[in-house]
Amino acid sequence: MIALGTCHLTRRFGGFTAVDAVSFNLLPGARHALIGPNGAGKTTFVNLLSGALPASEGQVMLFGQDITHLPQHARVRAGLARTFQVNQLFPQFTPLESVTLAIGEREGQGATWWRGARHGAEAARLLDDLHFPEADRTRPTAELPYGRQRLLEIALALALKPRVLLLDEPAAGVPPAESREVMQAIAALPRDVAVLLIEHDMDLVFRFAERITVLAFGAVLADGEPDAIAKDPRVREAYLGT
Ligand code: ADP
Repeated sequence: MIALGTCHLTRRFGGFTAVDAVSFNLLPGARHALIGPNGAGKTTFVNLLSGALPASEGQVMLFGQDITHLPQHARVRAGLARTFQVNQLFPQFTPLESVTLAIGEREGQGATWWRGARHGAEAARLLDDLHFPEADRTRPTAELPYGRQRLLEIALALALKPRVLLLDEPAAGVPPAESREVMQAIAALPRDVAVLLIEHDMDLVFRFAERITVLAFGAVLADGEPDAIAKDPRVREAYLGT
């Protein structure tokens, strides 16, 4: 069984092909990274997976279901979540409130006090699992260090109980001390979630990934275990060539 798969997935912008017939498999429980030089098509590919962009050709499958033409929210409901910029969404809410709301959203029930209490308890457990510092859970998100905000993005995605999680540069712009915190949280994600990490920090990629796919010029250049990828002359050339 494949968690998330693409078959000849293609996206053109006018006459330019940004993602070119990419066939890719993410296995259940995978720790998989997608890398590639700037302009390789990583962001476009992730947008095709999440439904932020429609495909020009090809297919996206989630646990055997063809989701190519589903809108984003329906993909989320089917079990595909991605992190999003939280500071644009709930700046005045605390992390505990935001995660509680996200759980309520997932459950799709009206707000009653007892449901709120149950969702609050689940939110606290989820933040515990991510080692989200206690003192920061009840402060407005806008006041938190950037690394904590990025950690909250992951918590909000997990609140949707996804089967596949797309992490788009989760530590980008985060200072080193906090980025360690984000990486530890990612390393501790539950194995019932398949994770695809899109990242340009190679240190981070090689610490996290058990499998790596390399994109270049919109196509798959290499795919395999980290050791093989690190030694692959085509991969070295693609990076040195930029
Ligand atoms: P990466 O994330 O690997 O840096 P992108 O997916 O952002 O690569 O971009 C791949 C290529 O597609 C780039 O050449 C970029 O200029 C082009 N591209 C991305 N989005 C658009 C768009 N909306 N319109 C035209 N070209 C685009």
